Amino acid sequence: SEESDWEDIDFEGDGEAEAEVAVPTLAVVGRPNVGKSTLVNRIIGRREAVVEDVPGVTRDRVSYEANWSGRRFMVQDTGGWEPDAKGMQQSIARQAEMAMQTADAILLVVDAVVGATATDEAVARVLRRGKTPVILVANKVDDERTESEAALLWSLGLGEPRPVSATHGRGTGDLLDDVLAVLPETPREGTGVAGPRRVALVGKPNVGKSSLLNKLTGDERSVVHDVAGTTVDPVDSLVELGGKVWRFVDTAGLRKRVSHASGAEFYASLRTKGAIDAAEVAILLLDASEVISEQDLRVLSMVADAGRALVIAFNKWDLVDDDRRGQLEKEIDRDLMRVPWAQRVNVSAKTGRAVQKLVPALETSLASWDKRISTGQLNSWLKEVVAATPPPMRGGRLPRVMFATQASTRPPTFVLFTTGFLEAGYRRFLERRLREEFNFDGSPVRISVRIRE
Ligand code: GDP
Ligand code: GDP
Repeated sequence: SEESDWEDIDFEGDGEAEAEVAVPTLAVVGRPNVGKSTLVNRIIGRREAVVEDVPGVTRDRVSYEANWSGRRFMVQDTGGWEPDAKGMQQSIARQAEMAMQTADAILLVVDAVVGATATDEAVARVLRRGKTPVILVANKVDDERTESEAALLWSLGLGEPRPVSATHGRGTGDLLDDVLAVLPETPREGTGVAGPRRVALVGKPNVGKSSLLNKLTGDERSVVHDVAGTTVDPVDSLVELGGKVWRFVDTAGLRKRVSHASGAEFYASLRTKGAIDAAEVAILLLDASEVISEQDLRVLSMVADAGRALVIAFNKWDLVDDDRRGQLEKEIDRDLMRVPWAQRVNVSAKTGRAVQKLVPALETSLASWDKRISTGQLNSWLKEVVAATPPPMRGGRLPRVMFATQASTRPPTFVLFTTGFLEAGYRRFLERRLREEFNFDGSPVRISVRIRE
């Protein structure tokens, strides 16, 4: 009966149940084409039917659950960049930095046949600085002959290269044994919250990004040159706002006026994407005096797809009259429905109006982004909601929602275990109710459905 499924689970959710659910994360980083995805597939066993994601989730960083020798952990597949894109080295170095903050162990994958490239060396340098354990994977060692190539990767200074063939599975069992040896039993506490929070200021050209940055840093005292224990990337700005230091990432591009040479827009969009990836929260600037455009929505999609917290700042509010305000409300209803949870602030970089309101909006959004709901709380809520409104029938069967767990934070990601497919409408309903109950203002929430036969 329905009841017996529920009884299998400890809904009281005491500390023990929670500890059992919080599993550590292994991040897989490296250049494009070295075989990261192939290796992730190998580690999780098979990709199909693993985690079914709600539309609109990231294509950049996806976590999958894995199990080796009876130990569970999450595998974070970090996205690839176009091989020849400018700034790739920097973006991969950032990917590595992000992994150091969010993961409990890292696999750096290198193509043993190609050997160590300048980008591999740059990433290795970044990883050597951190405290997160790193295992160097020499991939594409499909046979014994290639093993000698793998040995050359000692030069990266990350210890012994583990030769594997992600395609054939050669060496991957030994690799996973090594992973378990360095992976802690439970995730590090407060992973990634150290240091100034990272903010990306993004928006299409001429919305007022550099004006706003100037306003925020205009008072020289607000510009901070160093913070204990923090290395400041010269392209970032440390800014003191509301008594706290924030790191505005990749502001170098905002300070220089970028020329409108051919391809400038393409590079601007890569740069925007890089800034969003490096940030925890994005301030999306819109020009409130103009109609919300396709280009605005493209930047919005980048933030939403990357799973970052979001504050929408309507700039040039000094130019907005009553007529325009009414129109804008309609545009918001039409165009911003994808992110009804985003914090919204009306500002003027020119007059300085309300720019201080950005701080509480950033703080609220980040608190939601970091939020963790205990398994007990989550399941007593779920039990109630599902009992009151069960999912619709599928193929003559009533899917049962058995159990939920929060797989990760930043953004909050939940996995629902069910006996059948849940329609998109019902998943949206659950997300709405989840937000009402636990309040994730300012942050995206992801819900994956895992079907157990
Ligand atoms: P990613 O961009 O790092 O995720 O790389 P992919 O996993 O997409 O792999 C890039 C290419 O390398 C694909 O054509 C794979 O089939 C190939 N590849 C991946 N692992 C191996 C391997 O162990 N041996 C060989 N020979 N090819 C591999
Ligand atoms: P960016 O390309 O996004 O960095 O935009 P800029 O900061 O260069 O601003 C583009 C133009 O908008 C400039 O002429 C600014 O003076 C103007 N601008 C920026 N913010 C405001 C504002 O709040 N009100 C008004 N009226 N103009 C603004």
